[in-house]
Amino acid sequence: MFINGCKTILIRCRFCGRLRKYELNVFKLMENNKIEYKCKCGETNIAIKKIMAEVSKLK
Ligand SMILES: [Zn+2]
Repeated sequence: MFINGCKTILIRCRFCGRLRKYELNVFKLMENNKIEYKCKCGETNIAIKKIMAEVSKLK
């Protein structure tokens, strides 16, 4: 359940193995439609569009 629109997600980079914590802001996402998070190694770990599809399934 979203209270303030923020959700913390943990993602392990499939390239370098670093575990990274991201703040997912749903309201910001609605404005931008798509957010990408990059690892320090430069690899894009996640495109949030995909996550939102999963979240809406849970409702
Ligand atoms: Zn990485």
